Amino acid sequence: MSGAAPEVLNQSAELVEYNLFSTHSVLAEALAREGAAAEHSALEKLGAELGSVTMFTLGEAANRNPPRLHALDRFGARRDEVEFHPAWHELLRRLVAAGLHTGPWAQPRPGAHVARAAGYMLWAEVENGTQCPATMSYGAVPALVPQRADFAPWLSLLMSREYDPAFAPATAKRGVLMGMGMTERQGGSDVRTNTTRAQPAGARGPGREYRLTGHKWFFSAPMCDAFLVLAQAPGGLSCFLVPRFLPDGSVNALHLVRLKDKLGNRSNASSEVEFDAAYGLLVAEEGRGIPAILEMGVYTRLDNAIGSAGLMRQCVSQAIHHARGRRAFGRLLAAQPLMRNVLADLALECEAAVMLAMRLARAFDALADEGATLLRRVLTPVVKYWVCKRAPAVCSEAMEVLGGNGYVEDGPIARRLRESPLNSIWEGSGNIMCLDVLRALTREPRTGEALAELLTPVRGRDPRYDRYLAALLADLTDLGDPGDAELRGRELTQRIALAAQAALLLAHGSAPSCEAFLASRIAAGAPAAFGTLPRSCDFAALSARILRE
Ligand SMILES: Cc1cc2nc3c(=O)[nH]c(=O)nc-3n(C[C@H](O)[C@H](O)[C@H](O)COP(=O)(O)OP(=O)(O)OC[C@H]3O[C@@H](n4cnc5c(N)ncnc54)[C@H](O)[C@@H]3O)c2cc1C
Repeated sequence: MSGAAPEVLNQSAELVEYNLFSTHSVLAEALAREGAAAEHSALEKLGAELGSVTMFTLGEAANRNPPRLHALDRFGARRDEVEFHPAWHELLRRLVAAGLHTGPWAQPRPGAHVARAAGYMLWAEVENGTQCPATMSYGAVPALVPQRADFAPWLSLLMSREYDPAFAPATAKRGVLMGMGMTERQGGSDVRTNTTRAQPAGARGPGREYRLTGHKWFFSAPMCDAFLVLAQAPGGLSCFLVPRFLPDGSVNALHLVRLKDKLGNRSNASSEVEFDAAYGLLVAEEGRGIPAILEMGVYTRLDNAIGSAGLMRQCVSQAIHHARGRRAFGRLLAAQPLMRNVLADLALECEAAVMLAMRLARAFDALADEGATLLRRVLTPVVKYWVCKRAPAVCSEAMEVLGGNGYVEDGPIARRLRESPLNSIWEGSGNIMCLDVLRALTREPRTGEALAELLTPVRGRDPRYDRYLAALLADLTDLGDPGDAELRGRELTQRIALAAQAALLLAHGSAPSCEAFLASRIAAGAPAAFGTLPRSCDFAALSARILRE
């Protein structure tokens, strides 16, 4: 073999240095439609930054150089620090500067949550580990706001646009991030089984000091400055703000035992932690821990769906781009009939996911509105379930479009495929979301009316949709006995999600996308594999919706 560089033929070029936003018609339209048209140019600017070589390189570096735990120092004293690669810090610096953590709380304005959702979705195309502390900080704000008087300094530091990586007391920092601790060894979904105990240090009540003893089995982004943690107080399961430092400046007794060796999400640290009489301040009344932390959880669930839609978009874009540059059997892959069908079907799934996640985000811009509150209650678990559930299937099929190159870690998809199941697992796994949908519909029947308001305005536009909707509404009106309803929980949730996506496409979608969705998802049910669209579809138009040429 000669040492000369081989001639490289027929390989597609890297997809970098493009504007993630202005090539994404579906997201740009959703931004305007859901109430944040004024943010178009800000998103365009962010899209250009995020599509740069610099950002993709940072994302790669942060994931190839995972964090390291320093539980003890070299003398054996506790250190409990996690060391991250500089790329992680640079990514977080940029994320926080863009306000993708708490922007809508710091600068409330019409469309603020929708605009952040669009930015967060674009960020998900580049790097996902950093989204974990961003999301938890986003959700921590509404959990703490009811007790503003006790947590004002924390709230104001959460709103900061400065990322401060120092391991130091919050009072000495320019900005903070927050995490959460619910899951224990014996139960994550069923947090009522939590065994961590909290003893009052003196007087009891919201804002008062307690001491926490126990553990958390998953405790992500442990270098956050504080965490909302569930523990059993004398009055029942309660929520505590547990900071990394005590008010006197000493390190709080949060002992990091180990970092998880995870399938994906490698840039981020997920630790196991033990609390050794750790200092914590009570959030809400004793015994009200679950509702208090669920204030945070509901925003996390929104972000899970937005993040999964972003992951899908990046993988589908990579697939479309590859097929436009690679030839097989005499023509470009993108021109091969069966590949056109696969790409269009993937793009359609992505389009529907983006539309649905952005519609949900709008419900978070109307926090005081009763109809939006009811819709949020039922639509959040629906969207979290369905969009997150579709992501691994989409990412996996997109990988196959790249052939063998798709499976290689040097390429853009392997990391994203490994990441893709996570959003479905944390903050309420699939079944838990479906049970939550049923709980919403049975405990607060007006959530069904809110759903109907979303689904019925487009009635009469297409008989396939009308039949689908009529059957769904009939089933939702009579859920049957609880055991039977649970058995059908996934089926019902999936149908609500598909109906909502169809309703959005009927009302606002392009004609090719709407027709393809009705034909393939509503008339025929969700496809088992991608690439089964009927021949009448406009394949090129569908692909271009996700990655403009
Ligand atoms: C990378 C990563 C990071 C994480 N970070 C954090 C963190 O920072 N803080 C934190 O608190 N947690 C964190 N978690 C934990 C995560 O939230 C939990 O793993 C999740 O909530 C599920 O809990 P579990 O693992 O105990 O599973 P289980 O609760 O045992 O559930 C196992 C399965 O059973 C299903 N199931 C449970 N109950 C029912 C039922 N009644 N009917 C039908 N099916 C049911 C669930 O849907 C799931 O599929 C993280 C997890 C991962 C993977």
